[in-house]
Amino acid sequence: MTFWESPSPRLLEESASSSLSRLGSAKKPLVVTQAPLETTHACPAISPRSLTSFAYTRNGEPGETRVFRSVITPSSQRNALLERRPKTSSLFCRIDYHEFAKDMNLDWQTCSRARLSRDARFDGKFFIGVRASRVYCRSICPAPTAKEKNVRYFPTAAAAAEAGFRPCLRCRPECSPGTPAWAGTQSTVSRALRLIGESGLGDGGVEVLAETLGVGSRHLRRLFLQHLGATPRAVAQTRRLHFAKKLIDETRLPMIHVALAAGFGCVRRFNADIRRVYRRTPTQIRALARQKGVQPQNQYLFRLHFRPPYNWNAMLAFLADRATPGVEVVELGSYRRSITWGGAHGYFAVSPDERNDALSVRVQFDDPRSLFFIIERMRSMFDLNADWAAIVRSLRTDPMLAGRVETDPGLRVPGCWNGFELATRAILGQQITVKGATALAGRIVKAFGRPFSAASGITHLFPTPEVLADANLASIGLPKARAETIRAFARAVCNGQISFEGIVDSEAFLTRLCEIPGIGKWTAQYVAMRALGEPDAFPSGDLGLLRASGLASSRELEHRAEAWRPWRAYAAMYLWSVAGPGKIQGTKLALSRTKDTTVEKRDVYPDVSIVV
Ligand SMILES: [Zn+2]
Repeated sequence: MTFWESPSPRLLEESASSSLSRLGSAKKPLVVTQAPLETTHACPAISPRSLTSFAYTRNGEPGETRVFRSVITPSSQRNALLERRPKTSSLFCRIDYHEFAKDMNLDWQTCSRARLSRDARFDGKFFIGVRASRVYCRSICPAPTAKEKNVRYFPTAAAAAEAGFRPCLRCRPECSPGTPAWAGTQSTVSRALRLIGESGLGDGGVEVLAETLGVGSRHLRRLFLQHLGATPRAVAQTRRLHFAKKLIDETRLPMIHVALAAGFGCVRRFNADIRRVYRRTPTQIRALARQKGVQPQNQYLFRLHFRPPYNWNAMLAFLADRATPGVEVVELGSYRRSITWGGAHGYFAVSPDERNDALSVRVQFDDPRSLFFIIERMRSMFDLNADWAAIVRSLRTDPMLAGRVETDPGLRVPGCWNGFELATRAILGQQITVKGATALAGRIVKAFGRPFSAASGITHLFPTPEVLADANLASIGLPKARAETIRAFARAVCNGQISFEGIVDSEAFLTRLCEIPGIGKWTAQYVAMRALGEPDAFPSGDLGLLRASGLASSRELEHRAEAWRPWRAYAAMYLWSVAGPGKIQGTKLALSRTKDTTVEKRDVYPDVSIVV
């Protein structure tokens, strides 16, 4: 069915606009978009609600455009619209702007307000294409704002790129916080995004990705277009290009390393893509970035942005209580830890950069090709893609949480660097205090971890599954049953029965995890929350949650938590940060409490142990 020509988006838009304006079209703002026949159902811009009329050209000649009024019905007649069109023509459609924004999960008025006020809370939730300059911007761009009629909104940078817009050199769309999880990680698109983040699109491209996800590749493309406004390939390409731009701007890596680190394969392709998109060579872009100071070899400084508010103190307090001695250090408002990736070792340190709504990150790592994945992992570890505005909307509807959410906005769900390490930690912490679990983890590291000294306080790497599979864990004072669970878990990871990479179906993963004797629902949900980044994971059997909620049973808690979906993990973080039962419902008390005392008060209840 593909008999459409594909003129450049610019030609497409210009010719369709002119032909439509000749027709004296409606006063509503217009969006003109390419509409290949085969994607009629997929392209959100031409859903039956928003499509209002067609234009088409023959042989790419805009002058020959003919327009006819279409008769749209909501169900199946869309293809009938095409009957009167010559087979060799290109198609344009005119759509209602407001309906279009709705289809793309974008509220046009919200976008407009956020753009005019340069609201950082919306940074990365949509992008603004300026028609005259053909440049796309973040909502916080300091450049003078264009008139409403001259801009277009896109749900992702990839969608803007596909429509023929280039990234702005001033607000640097590559630095914006990532795509928020809008429908939980169970959705196919979220899972696909996670896989692309873990390993790029790979050699097999979209076909293999779709197969991994258990859907057809056409269906996957359709879903991507519907939710992100761009195909999986465009999303992966934009990510790669953005990361390359970040490396050019923020590091002094030689260009050949930048090309490899961003997954370009060869330098020629990298140069060509950068030139095409930025209209500058990589060297010219680096000269513009005016980097200050000299960075030590193999050390990289990055700024990772988030959508405010971000409660760094709470994040740090949570990580501090659980920092494994020798592997993780929390000190003077910053966090650092040793890391292993692809056989190489290093460390990273993170501290807040609140003025820029970002975290400052220092990575020391020998192999620059791993930087993309290290940065992706750090973004998920510090939950930088979260969309606070959406989370708070659901949590504040419950009086149990409303007060806390107001007093302590911006709580995030701390993720982890390594799923194996986190799950081991979770098993260690079953039925003992956080302090006790931390001490045990320290002993395990000392006895079985590989010595590694990179920065102050870091002495070891966390032991690998291979080592723990046969380790004599009783020698460090671990109860026999717990030691056996950790060994069985490590063996399952070694033989591939359990893998934290490329998880497609988290339910199936959790079921496999629970098959290991000694791992129950609580541990599985905790792992889902922190290692898989499931925003709706909820360890409802947790003693601390029960106490904080003041409810009698986990069943009651589960019932109550229905209202917090799909953000139950965030609700759990709020409940854990609460001192004890009875106090949480007192909004007045919650209002008078400061961030620091929250942490202290939690320690008053050391037996709220299962918060590992
Ligand atoms: Zn800009």
